[in-house]
Amino acid sequence: MTHTGALCPAKMVGTMNRYSAFAVAREAFRDHAGWRRAWGNPEPKRRYDVIIIGAGGHGLATAYYLGKNYGITNVAILEKGWLGGGNTGRNTTIIRSNYLQDPSAAIYEKARSLYEDLSQALNYNVMFSPRGVMMLAQTEHEIRGYKRTAHANALQGVATRYIGPDEVKRLCPIIETRGPRYPVLGALWQPRGGTARHDAVAWGYARKCSDMGMDVIQKCEVTGIRQAAGQVTGVTTTRGDIDCDKLGIVVAGHSGHVADMAGFRLPIESVALQALVSEPIKPCMDVVVMANTVHGYMSQSDKGEMVIGGGADGFNNYTQRGSFHHIEETVRALVETFPMISRLKMLRQWGGVVDMTGDRSPILSKTPLGGCFINCGWGTGGFKAIPGSGWATAEMIARGEPGPLAAEFGLDRFAEGRFIDESVAAGVAH
Ligand SMILES: Cc1cc2nc3c(=O)[nH]c(=O)nc-3n(C[C@H](O)[C@H](O)[C@H](O)COP(=O)(O)OP(=O)(O)OC[C@H]3O[C@@H](n4cnc5c(N)ncnc54)[C@H](O)[C@@H]3O)c2cc1C
Repeated sequence: MTHTGALCPAKMVGTMNRYSAFAVAREAFRDHAGWRRAWGNPEPKRRYDVIIIGAGGHGLATAYYLGKNYGITNVAILEKGWLGGGNTGRNTTIIRSNYLQDPSAAIYEKARSLYEDLSQALNYNVMFSPRGVMMLAQTEHEIRGYKRTAHANALQGVATRYIGPDEVKRLCPIIETRGPRYPVLGALWQPRGGTARHDAVAWGYARKCSDMGMDVIQKCEVTGIRQAAGQVTGVTTTRGDIDCDKLGIVVAGHSGHVADMAGFRLPIESVALQALVSEPIKPCMDVVVMANTVHGYMSQSDKGEMVIGGGADGFNNYTQRGSFHHIEETVRALVETFPMISRLKMLRQWGGVVDMTGDRSPILSKTPLGGCFINCGWGTGGFKAIPGSGWATAEMIARGEPGPLAAEFGLDRFAEGRFIDESVAAGVAH
């Protein structure tokens, strides 16, 4: 992911190419010389109405919906690295909304439904593939848990159902349902869950933000948050001081550090989460399967690689890379359910720093600093939430108060003991 937009220093308001079959045909006749940069590479201005720290999916989506839903476009998105170079470009791209608690189902289903036509809305192919997601039940306890979630989802308007082992086998023939330790007893099935191309989601939002006149500024690290009389006034960055009226902190695994700059603490821990992919093979699996008991999950990418994820590290750290024991543990767990992968070579492994809350639910909240809002705590499962989270965070920043989607996810829930327990839905890391 190396798109920095460096060849286009000018502002790009309304100047982007519209992507279409016609445009592809037109450019084919002129050596593709007419394509413009997808987003600009502006210098920071002295002042913005809103600054968003973090150009991951959540930060970019927040900026996009600020512009689209509220007409706020004097916005800068500041990124210390490159667009989507954090967890947004490192995840295993699973999208689903089969959560147990009502506030979670509402925000994840909002996100899933926005994914349905996100490519059209952004005019950028995010390759949303609603191929279906199943969470395997491999113990009696999981059967009860997933049946309960299916009933809750029915009340919440989330389309899921509990299926038996024969249907699991029909949907995914490479599964060994009679496994030696943990036979497959059934699954929670969400037919419109699936995957999308993760970095395309960041790029699509960035392109639209840039086109609306916002400044997406890469290689610009926020090193301090300035305030006066309890109100945010701006940020200090590696490219100078920038003033703002409102500030959104959307930095996932770095949330604790940035909150510290603003003068408050978060009930959050950062840990590395890893994933790996195999060599590409012919299509053999057209659903996403999560096996929480053995602790692994798998899907097949469009390139043919088997995309595999496991659990998070059991200790706090900020390492964005893989480790050998994770490969061994995750693959050993999955071989039991998918014996055919024992013959695959593993190609790549990587890690991201995820932000975990105690109840495994996110934080979308006002903060003790006036005008400063935070979006974090998506932990191992926030890729699927990007459009809904951006929608809700934009609403909170624009109005100064959380709207219905964000209301239950405030920081005050930790003081009041109003936890939104999703430790089962979060299960294995995804
Ligand atoms: C291996 C792995 C697998 C995963 N699998 C899934 C999955 O299958 N499905 C799912 O839904 N979720 C999954 N997730 C979780 C998901 O990736 C994250 O929840 C989501 O991407 C978080 O997005 P974000 O925009 O909040 O954070 P990020 O994408 O991490 O963006 C935050 C940005 O803030 C920037 N930043 C930090 N500090 C500063 C600073 N001081 N100044 C300026 N910029 C700063 C960072 O550089 C970064 O680019 C997975 C995560 C990992 C690591």
